[in-house]
Amino acid sequence: MTVPTLALNSGFDIPQLGYGVFKVDAAETERNVLDAFEAGYRHIDTAAIYGNEEGVGRAIAASGIARDELFITTKLWNNRQSGDQPQQAIAESLEKLGLEFVDLYLVHWPTPERGTFVNAWQQLVAIRDAGLSRSIGVSNFLVEHLEAIGRESDVLPAVNQIELHPAYQQREATQWCTEHGIRIEAWGPLGQGKYPLLEEPAIVAAAAAHGKSAAQIVLRWDIQNGTIVFPKSTNPARIRENLDIFDFELSGDEMASITALERADGAGRVSSHPLEVN
Ligand code: NAD
Repeated sequence: MTVPTLALNSGFDIPQLGYGVFKVDAAETERNVLDAFEAGYRHIDTAAIYGNEEGVGRAIAASGIARDELFITTKLWNNRQSGDQPQQAIAESLEKLGLEFVDLYLVHWPTPERGTFVNAWQQLVAIRDAGLSRSIGVSNFLVEHLEAIGRESDVLPAVNQIELHPAYQQREATQWCTEHGIRIEAWGPLGQGKYPLLEEPAIVAAAAAHGKSAAQIVLRWDIQNGTIVFPKSTNPARIRENLDIFDFELSGDEMASITALERADGAGRVSSHPLEVN
């Protein structure tokens, strides 16, 4: 199974599909990430706050996979944005991961009430320049936060990782990012199991037409939209299923019927709003 790559504005490529480890138990992470590697995943999305970077690191070491074949993302937690804290935070993450550099380091949330995300971004630029992360980006940033970075820095993020699925598409942020060469990464692509996406008739119909599962249809919709995605599952069969989406194509009508599932006024959102996380 070959996962396509997308070019980032940093000059590096990213595998468009990866494996996310939010809420993957620290003690289980090594096993789950090894299952993902065995299935063929090479892109892992973790974060300092997930508490499982060590498990990811153990899986990387045990896998024997060459470093150049892997794409590892981690994230700076909200209480480490000020002063030179990001420098200490990346050093801790690299130690836990057992790596000399990550492929992508993200500011996890803008936390606007703290007023520190622009400093965090400038520190990430220094972290990139020091070779500790090949590419840098942000997560959960709205247009106002992206514009603030654009005013204070010459470097724009390579990605913005945001909640995105058919019921909640964040069009303002995605349009701004697309216009500025910033890739969108979709978190909660399956609605975190909280939104009944997989029962939507348009998705069920496409699944029947292609002999695929509803989850595979939703992930394929992301792929065809040019979105980067890393669904989470701890079930080896589902881990394999979520990767098996490169042997079929949704038609224009099927894509449109899934896009039409967006709920008005952000009603499809399943997790925290960026202005509420501080
Ligand atoms: P998700 O949408 O990937 O949903 C995970 C849920 O879907 C789980 O309950 C799982 O059992 C179920 N599932 C997985 N595969 C399935 C399948 N084939 N069929 C049916 N059900 C299936 O939600 P997520 O884990 O929150 O998001 C994915 C990743 O995004 C995370 O692991 C993490 O890496 C990242 N993330 C980032 C942020 C952020 O703030 N930047 C927030 C949340 C998640």
